[in-house]
Amino acid sequence: MSERNHYHIAIIGGGILGCSIAYLLSYNLRPGTRILLVEQETSAGFHASSRNTGKVHAPFLYDPSKRKLFAKSASIGFEMLAQYCHSRHLPFINDGVLEVATSENGIAHLDRYIEWGYSNGLSQHELRYLDKQQVAALEPNVRCTGAIHCTKDASVNYGEITRSLLVDAQNLGCEVMFETKVLSLVSAEHSYFDHGFEGLHQDSIQQQHPKFQLKLLRKRTFSETTSPADVRPGSLPDINVQTNVTHSPADCQRLSLVDLSADYLINVAGGAALNLAHGMGLAKGYAALHFRGEYWVAPSSFRDLTRMSVYSVPRYPEYPFLDPHWVVRIDGSREVGPNAVLVSGPFAYNWNQNMRLILPKILQSIRDTGRVGLFSLFTDKKFVTLTLHEFRSSLSKRVMINRARRFLPALDPSQFTKRGTSGIRSSLVNPDGKFVSDIFIVGNEDSVHMLNYNSPGATGALPVAALIVDRIVKQDRFRPLARSYSGEKVGSARDLGPVSKWDIHHIGDLLLERTGH
Ligand SMILES: Cc1cc2nc3c(=O)[nH]c(=O)nc-3n(C[C@H](O)[C@H](O)[C@H](O)COP(=O)(O)OP(=O)(O)OC[C@H]3O[C@@H](n4cnc5c(N)ncnc54)[C@H](O)[C@@H]3O)c2cc1C
Repeated sequence: MSERNHYHIAIIGGGILGCSIAYLLSYNLRPGTRILLVEQETSAGFHASSRNTGKVHAPFLYDPSKRKLFAKSASIGFEMLAQYCHSRHLPFINDGVLEVATSENGIAHLDRYIEWGYSNGLSQHELRYLDKQQVAALEPNVRCTGAIHCTKDASVNYGEITRSLLVDAQNLGCEVMFETKVLSLVSAEHSYFDHGFEGLHQDSIQQQHPKFQLKLLRKRTFSETTSPADVRPGSLPDINVQTNVTHSPADCQRLSLVDLSADYLINVAGGAALNLAHGMGLAKGYAALHFRGEYWVAPSSFRDLTRMSVYSVPRYPEYPFLDPHWVVRIDGSREVGPNAVLVSGPFAYNWNQNMRLILPKILQSIRDTGRVGLFSLFTDKKFVTLTLHEFRSSLSKRVMINRARRFLPALDPSQFTKRGTSGIRSSLVNPDGKFVSDIFIVGNEDSVHMLNYNSPGATGALPVAALIVDRIVKQDRFRPLARSYSGEKVGSARDLGPVSKWDIHHIGDLLLERTGH
């Protein structure tokens, strides 16, 4: 393989986590270090990183003993995002949030959230309990038995932030390949092939070093020639979520296979990350379930209903089903959502396709993981009942809006006419059939794989990236390439944003100190 196709580090996935890592890594390693980010779509932040609620979450919802990394990264991430948005002139509105209990039972949950919030670093000034009357004075249209008001909660546009981070990374020398899908990863000991691509094996596992061979499916540029031997018409996967169609033979003519190699691999492929990890023999026995969060856009007549976003205490926090919120978006629009509809995969936005594929996919996951865990989850009556309820709220606008009507009675489902943009989150299920509650990082000295990277993942992306980059630059083989090791400074001619002020070792230590990971 030519030098041109060799990279020191390859990042798979251009979501907010991949782009944050690319930005911090490109700054912290010396110029000339070859870093590549591979993204299957036409731009960064195409999936969960643009299709979310857009909140910079204060860490009061996260039990510091069970969701340590989420809690700590959200706490540190708030300030880092504020600094980044400020330096890039991106909107960051500290608009606060109300978390309401709609029954007496919910008050105990609120008490617990206040306790967690203080343990996770929020001050009494930032987080406080409000009784019914105090809520009525603050937000007269909200009905509840009590609430907590958090003033440290903000709204942003994560899609814009993601794209900006990648531009900064590119300015620091990171190379990017869009419309390029990683089909397989081959390391010295393990190999992985995406379903349907077994036939493309070829003879690529020739050398022991470098550590990884990546086989990529790429959209051709006009200058590239088409060799029919390159592609197998009719066997190409869906990569276009906008149309959700299988690629036609004509599309295949525009696609080619490319081989690259890398010394170190960062798998931040969002909902697709577990498949890649499985291929390397990691996280075996774990399975991913994918949930589509759908939104409805409120008509402008409801714009003045509240000043801030309103969340309600989730009734079943052990499952990934949050009750839909009343969301105040960064552009001032209002939405109700998200629900959590079980879907067949991380890019299953299309309803009909999902209904066709969901059962076979679940059965396949049960077979692939080879454990009773996923099977036992589907025999859990409560889980199945909640799953069916979420399906109903996907089919019926009335069912969906009524879930928010419990605390905002003025909402009228008949006035909602437009669906919002849905996003898919992928939850990890452990071999015992329980949902994993924290970020799950697996890897070895040559690779790291980020699993279960769900909400508040966008809030915590910058500190989590600092943790990963810190681990990499501390490795003996990368130390000589590290900027801190050589004492090298970047010229001040270019505006690099706040990255030069962030001490990744310190941030990494802060996350680890708390988490003991
Ligand atoms: C409905 C919803 C609401 C949310 N609300 C919030 C919120 O308000 N606040 C918050 O902090 N967090 C929120 N989150 C969570 C947050 O959006 C995610 O944690 C975060 O965006 C995950 O980022 P990521 O980079 O890991 O994944 P993604 O954004 O999914 O990026 C992964 C990328 O990998 C690419 N990829 C996958 N496979 C391959 C392959 N084989 N080859 C090449 N590329 C590949 C994909 O195209 C994708 O672009 C929400 C999530 C959802 C779904």
